[in-house]
Amino acid sequence: MDKEELLEKFNINKNDVENFDLNFLATYLKFHHKKDYGKSTILFWGFDKEEVQKLNEIAINSALDVKKRYSENITFICINNDFDDNTKLEKANKGNSIVLNFSEFEFIFKNRDYNLLENSDFFPKKEISEIRIPIPLSNFDYEIETDSYSFESDKTYKFNLYKEQCECKEFKENSDYEKGDLRRLCKHLLNEYKNSFKPINLNYFTLFLISSDISLKRYLEYFSVGELEFPVYVSYSNLYNWVNIFFPNENGKYTVYGYNKLEKRFSYNDKPIGYVPELRSKLNQIFEPKRNKINKTKPVNNNGKAGCGTPILILIIIASLISLL
Ligand SMILES: [Zn+2]
Repeated sequence: MDKEELLEKFNINKNDVENFDLNFLATYLKFHHKKDYGKSTILFWGFDKEEVQKLNEIAINSALDVKKRYSENITFICINNDFDDNTKLEKANKGNSIVLNFSEFEFIFKNRDYNLLENSDFFPKKEISEIRIPIPLSNFDYEIETDSYSFESDKTYKFNLYKEQCECKEFKENSDYEKGDLRRLCKHLLNEYKNSFKPINLNYFTLFLISSDISLKRYLEYFSVGELEFPVYVSYSNLYNWVNIFFPNENGKYTVYGYNKLEKRFSYNDKPIGYVPELRSKLNQIFEPKRNKINKTKPVNNNGKAGCGTPILILIIIASLISLL
């Protein structure tokens, strides 16, 4: 199987993957093909019992769910080279499934080490390593329309995982972050990323965020607390008073707490017992300087008001002069 055939079969734009070789792409496709509802399925046609047993083994090792019957949403249909049931072939080629012959299936789904994160074109370096995420290639270039997650809203949003773009307000706030930066993903993109792209081998904090459907707000800061080996992360935005605090236990497992930065209180009074005074003092360091800055800007506002007042003062002077005449 050569690179061109592979790209065509999986609908990947040639220009996007110039720097990736055939093995990189095959590994990428083994782990990151489009999945409906988080599941990859496969159907084998035209193989004898013994062959099917061998194929099933490869499929199961590759986390593919083997199906016995055709349906439109099957991810892959693997067909033996001498299969000649034209009705079925036509059906396979017309549907949404990716059709593979035996050698293509074997090549993509053979034992492959997941070494993709060594490639910085795919997994770009970031100043905070936890916000790095693998970039979906153009096999995820399709538009999805979703209802607003808010109960009060009947809005719909279109988003595209490959472009890492969405129409929602949350995306607008973070759209200047580059692809491969977790902060760029709004909750709609994050959900599709989790279910369809299925990232693997990421650090515990990132996987926790993705698996819990928690998108990051505009700013992310981190610091250590007490003897804890793993950092505390604080995610916040200037648009909202509520902040997410990600607090680790000694094994690096995170719990999320809601915190109101203005009222300085935890949501439902739920807080990491034993660490609260130190945590509060760190939070004050993040949020109080900003308040001071606001205070500092007050004179500017006052000046502004004084500016508005000046013409009135002139008018009064003119009026007084007129009255003197
Ligand atoms: Zn969105």
